[in-house]
Amino acid sequence: MEARQASSNGRVLVVGSANLDIVGRAPRHPNPGETLIGTQYAEYAGGKGLNQAVAASRAGAPTSFIAALGDDTAGATLRSIAVDSGVDVAHLQTIAGTPTGRALIVVDDDGENTIIVIPGANARCEPSEVTEDSAVVLAQLEIPTPTVAEMFRRAKSKGARTVLNPAPAAALPPDVLRLCDIVIPNEHEVELLGGVDALHAGGVHTVIVTRGADGIEIFEPNRHVALPAFAVTAIDTTGAGDAFCGSLCAALAGGADIDESSRFAMATAAIATTRPGAVPSMPTRDEVIRFIQASAD
Ligand code: ADP
Repeated sequence: MEARQASSNGRVLVVGSANLDIVGRAPRHPNPGETLIGTQYAEYAGGKGLNQAVAASRAGAPTSFIAALGDDTAGATLRSIAVDSGVDVAHLQTIAGTPTGRALIVVDDDGENTIIVIPGANARCEPSEVTEDSAVVLAQLEIPTPTVAEMFRRAKSKGARTVLNPAPAAALPPDVLRLCDIVIPNEHEVELLGGVDALHAGGVHTVIVTRGADGIEIFEPNRHVALPAFAVTAIDTTGAGDAFCGSLCAALAGGADIDESSRFAMATAAIATTRPGAVPSMPTRDEVIRFIQASAD
């Protein structure tokens, strides 16, 4: 693989969610009405949109992020995390009187978790006028689908490529599916969407199914390629899919084709699984290129 991947200056526009994940550990989960004393507390930046925007930016693409934050300290924290990763935040929306999205996560001593996601401002994310031209527009389904559809419509009218990571899986209206050039579900999501053939029949050209440590499969009309994942010792697969989607779009925006971009994205995701967390685990383009070169030796 050559270093030109993800190296030219095509812009990626990510449209999606931003959450503050609040994690408490306790010996066990409380029963309804019960109060327990926990043992640990931590906060992490999250939301598929923010994770993917950080991944795209670290992978070397100029990256803009459309998301909605509350007018609160969590919103300010997430904004500064995006800025620190080089993400252009000029199009972030601030929704007064609405909290920034949160995930309330309780983990017990067996590692089992329960999660309550409160979309907050994410549910109010609206289409935004964007003056910069983007090569690729990337979205997920943690914000209202009509917002995704409208941003894809605008993207296509300007000749940009549209990429949807359909997570969490939700039935997609035919007029939205038709706007997607590339759809990237994991193996559970593709089933919930009715399978690869249904996506092709709906007008999607390229379907990339991610299969965790088993790699990916690329389905295009008359073409099917399975690519193995890079072998690593994974310690935390949180955000692997987000690392894949963000860096794939960075590579596509840089002029690489689907197969080259997919390899770059699998390398990015493999590195991310060797580090804790999602946002902090996203590698830089140079790290990914060194990793690919080392894997080829
Ligand atoms: P999601 O996080 O959306 O469920 P996957 O688990 O399918 O997504 O992971 C996305 C991609 O990340 C995979 O296709 C693979 O390339 C890479 N990946 C995930 N887990 C591993 C792993 N244990 N070892 C190497 N690569 C992995």
